[in-house]
Amino acid sequence: MKRITGIIITLALLLLIPQKMDDLLPPEHVNKQEDYSNKQESEWYVMGIQDTSEILQVKTSVSSTNWWEYPSNIYTTERDGDDLLVLVNKQFKLPSTYAPSDLVKASKSGIRRGESYQLRSILIPDLTAMINDAKSSGIDLSIVSAYRSYQTQVNTYKYWLGKNNNNIALVDTFSARAGHSQHQLGTVIDFSTKEINDSLGDEFTNTEASKWLTQNAYKYGFILSYPKGYEKITGYKFESWHYRYIGKAYAQEMIDMGLILEQYLQSKTL
Ligand SMILES: [Zn+2]
Repeated sequence: MKRITGIIITLALLLLIPQKMDDLLPPEHVNKQEDYSNKQESEWYVMGIQDTSEILQVKTSVSSTNWWEYPSNIYTTERDGDDLLVLVNKQFKLPSTYAPSDLVKASKSGIRRGESYQLRSILIPDLTAMINDAKSSGIDLSIVSAYRSYQTQVNTYKYWLGKNNNNIALVDTFSARAGHSQHQLGTVIDFSTKEINDSLGDEFTNTEASKWLTQNAYKYGFILSYPKGYEKITGYKFESWHYRYIGKAYAQEMIDMGLILEQYLQSKTL
């Protein structure tokens, strides 16, 4: 039975994978583009759930072996949200009340575009250096998402459910439920570049900007959160654009240990 359910979910996923890049619009554009007023009542029922435990009960009764699924036991993060090494994933969620205390505009880093997004001030010096060094190498970087509050993430997750026929299994492969998003930390940046007209999504992967970040971002304390081929460890599909700042020293230590971010943060927590 479990196996049949797995096959059905896999088929559903294959059918419902977003066909167009504009299905991957930056979540910040969600509020401007999506009008929730026309939603069916049944849609609201699923989308209106803010406490994920209701969804989890349904899900865990189906199966708990697929990489995109949430575990049955969810805990609050062990470290404080301001701690650069706080583990935030599908098992550990930030309190809904957590918001960084030192948010500033991304414009402080001199970024060409995305200057009104908010980031923690602690990363601005390293981000500024990275943007300038990239520019010296002929690489253009822009920001297409950064800090997202708990409530914004509630709306973001709802938006993707609405866009995908309330297919929870599909949405959980690429969008975090509120509290589980690293974007709530204020230390995460979704990058883009003028090479792809500052769009967000898979087309970033083959840009010069992406290649440069892959080689150099860690030197400035930025680490790719969801690398390719590690879906079973991270719980998310590959996101070439999503970088989290942990500071230069920790980033170097992580590289030296030969770990991906998820494994490194787990080693500091569990
Ligand atoms: Zn992201």
